[in-house]
Amino acid sequence: MSTITSEIQALGDDFRGELVHPGEPSYDELRSVWNGSIDRRPALIARCTGVADIRSALTYARRTGLPVAVRGGGHSFPGHSTCDGGVVLDLSPLKGIRVDPVRRTARAQAGVLLGELDRETQAFGLATPSGIVTHTGVAGLTLGGGIGWLMRKYGLTIDNLLSVDLVTAEGELLTASEDVNADLFWGIRGGGGNFGIVTEFEFQLHPVGPIVYAGPIMWPMEESPRILRFYRDWITGVPDELTTAVIHRWIPALPAIPPELHGRPVVVVLACYAGSIEDGERVVAPLKAFAPPLLDLCAPKPFVDVQAMFDLSYPHGRWYYMRACDVAELTDEVVDIAVERGLAISGPLTSYPIYHLGGAISRVQADATAFGDRSNGHTFNFVAATPGPEGFEEQRQWARDSWRAMEPHQSGVYVNFLTDEGTDRIRSAYGATAYDRLKDLKRKYDPNNLFHLNQNIPPQ
Ligand code: FAD
Repeated sequence: MSTITSEIQALGDDFRGELVHPGEPSYDELRSVWNGSIDRRPALIARCTGVADIRSALTYARRTGLPVAVRGGGHSFPGHSTCDGGVVLDLSPLKGIRVDPVRRTARAQAGVLLGELDRETQAFGLATPSGIVTHTGVAGLTLGGGIGWLMRKYGLTIDNLLSVDLVTAEGELLTASEDVNADLFWGIRGGGGNFGIVTEFEFQLHPVGPIVYAGPIMWPMEESPRILRFYRDWITGVPDELTTAVIHRWIPALPAIPPELHGRPVVVVLACYAGSIEDGERVVAPLKAFAPPLLDLCAPKPFVDVQAMFDLSYPHGRWYYMRACDVAELTDEVVDIAVERGLAISGPLTSYPIYHLGGAISRVQADATAFGDRSNGHTFNFVAATPGPEGFEEQRQWARDSWRAMEPHQSGVYVNFLTDEGTDRIRSAYGATAYDRLKDLKRKYDPNNLFHLNQNIPPQ
């Protein structure tokens, strides 16, 4: 093996983007990721400007034996897109987006964030389903599945993925779609970054908005037992156009909220109706009528504002920890635990959303993609957060205790909501059959496990 010095020289001669080493002025900013509790020091940050740079950086990593981390939006909860002493392939400079309004498709490169994609597609009154915070990366979110405000109407993000371009561990550029490399296309729809580096995604778009009926409706947290019971019965009859989530939290000090309510513990139902404003008002009316809300901000608004609704609640740099699980139904026992865990929140930044799944997600055949169990009704995210290290341990313990309390009722987990929880949990996110199929694919496309900084599916 040649020396690292000669290899870095060879890479420098061959690389169009920026190569950033420890000690350089931009190093600390570029090594930071969304979760402030992750503090890793890569040996090199390779800011790739295209497929040629990605191939060069991979060649460098293979020859030097350094670990490889691949970074899209940098929002991995456990910090999988960075590493100590390895090479970070930072794809954030890859910002190309092309919308075809006639075919209703969009192509997005690997560094695009959700809000950047929405901005371009909404210019034509179109959208593809994605997530609920606009500064999340399209790449990592899509490769794990993608849940968000349009999911019950149009499915997961992967259900709207038409093709990808991907660089393999050996540096080969492949296209994968239903017609080309179909095995790989099955695996990347849920299998994360295990099989290669996706350089570009092609999505199906749908007419959405640009104005939709959406927003939060809040009640004092003491009312959570009856709100949750009404909610779980009410959602059984709502159309797929309506996607909702319930959050238990303390009201954040945001400009849209009257200051006298800041810090008050609440139970919040968030709604987004992907249809006409009139239908949205009619469908949500029974919830608003059931118990007079403390604050009702559910009203017609631009879809791009709905997508950004949580941006200020989950900013970069705070310390975060999350435990998550799916449950089949909101039974009385699950509701009781949910209420108790809400009342046990002891920090202003800690919160937990419960997303309502079903609809279009559950109508896709179970083995059509690598995504786990599509029959689950809800997914819980217990999100602990603090401004920095102070008090973090207490909040993290709340998340762990909450997850443990829900354990008897868990029926799976969404892979993008896992933290570092070990192989058995990754296996249970996919189910045994899909996991074995993913292992076969891993042996075919990445037999040496070059791409192991992810929810890893080891080849052996
Ligand atoms: P990164 O940290 O850059 O990457 C995550 C993983 O994907 C890493 O293992 C990385 O190596 C790999 N990866 C990244 N880019 C590529 C690529 N081009 N090719 C191959 N592998 C790659 N999920 C939802 O489904 N819905 C939500 O509403 C949602 N909301 C979220 C809100 C916040 C604030 C956060 C932090 C996360 C949220 N998530 C949500 C989870 C999110 O989907 C995952 O954290 C996802 O991995 C983030 O993608 P990223 O590109 O930003 O992350």
